[in-house]
Amino acid sequence: MGLEIVYSDWALANRYDDTIELHKDLKKYKRLHDWLLKHELEHEKEFNLVKDTIHDYGEIPPASMLVSMVRFMAPRPKTWIQLLPFGIFKGEIYWDVSMIIFWLLLFIFSGTIIMIKFF
Ligand SMILES: [Zn+2]
Repeated sequence: MGLEIVYSDWALANRYDDTIELHKDLKKYKRLHDWLLKHELEHEKEFNLVKDTIHDYGEIPPASMLVSMVRFMAPRPKTWIQLLPFGIFKGEIYWDVSMIIFWLLLFIFSGTIIMIKFF
């Protein structure tokens, strides 16, 4: 089965096996659309904790893309669902390992800052 791209009204960008899910409004933001699509295409079909984590956090996205992402998501509260540590696809709930790692990193980072500042 080939790769399929589906457009939804809540997700920013996700990859599940042979399906890439992108927000429908991204069609109007070509640069961000293509950048996210490229990112999702680079994730392999099979989930691999090490490879996928390196792909997501091994390098910081260009600042212009981070700004575009925030600008895109801010007025679309449904896309904030993307930040939860779990997702729903075809009626099934699954853990979003990438987001679990994101919150873990944020927790460790902010915890370290608080420790340094106040203790
Ligand atoms: Zn990713």
